[in-house]
Amino acid sequence: TGGPAGRRRVLLKLSGEVFGGGKLGVDPETVRGIAQQIAATVGEVEVAIVVGGGNFFRGAELSQSGMDRSRADYMGMLGTVMNCLALQDFLEQAGVETRVQSAITMGQVAEAYIPRRAIRHLEKGRVVIFGAGAGLPYFSTDTVAAQRALEVHADEVLMAKSGVDGVYTADPHKDPTAEKLLELSYDEALRRDIRVMDQTAMTMCKDNNLTMVVFGMQGEGNVTRAIRGEKLGTLVTT
Ligand code: UDP
Repeated sequence: TGGPAGRRRVLLKLSGEVFGGGKLGVDPETVRGIAQQIAATVGEVEVAIVVGGGNFFRGAELSQSGMDRSRADYMGMLGTVMNCLALQDFLEQAGVETRVQSAITMGQVAEAYIPRRAIRHLEKGRVVIFGAGAGLPYFSTDTVAAQRALEVHADEVLMAKSGVDGVYTADPHKDPTAEKLLELSYDEALRRDIRVMDQTAMTMCKDNNLTMVVFGMQGEGNVTRAIRGEKLGTLVTT
């Protein structure tokens, strides 16, 4: 699996809410903590990251308030780039070599998204952070996580969640009978309308046989453990 070094390669999806610590914008201490957990795995696992932007803007929400959807989506994508830069900064402070690749060209702050170059960075042990989603309105960063994982040949997609530690039969915050699932198929998730990621993203994973792990950020060292491939959260497979 992974590159010529035979290392495991993962695609970590960090949603915007992870960066804000529940608030608007970026919470530096939260991002520092995540960066340190990622840094602990460098050299051992090849890590690519897709970053969300919901802590700044979500296009669908802005369009409900009257904005043009595409323009609002571009705002959403630009928000993800701010998260990328924050994560890059704390990773570099932790001694990790990183590259940000943006799907919207902005040469001063990020490389352009060039898949083969991204793979090369991973092989060299650099962490690659993908920003600006797909560069396309009407897409989500979940879908981009699946797409980038496939294009850079990641072994797994790791969906980091804040607030839940896996997939449940019902919302564990509302339904006390909700049970955590250790394993789940994409078909079952789609059938039961379990929204671990959006439907487009799930369909893409299912059709291309891409395994996903849904895990909670909260536990001590959970990001490190998920990257290393320790069993935690819920495993979703075709
Ligand atoms: N977005 C987009 N195209 C993409 C990725 C993201 O238009 O390929 C926009 C969209 O408006 C989305 C926002 O960027 O609401 C932030 O991304 P997302 O909601 O996926 O972030 P997350 O929920 O992971 O924080």
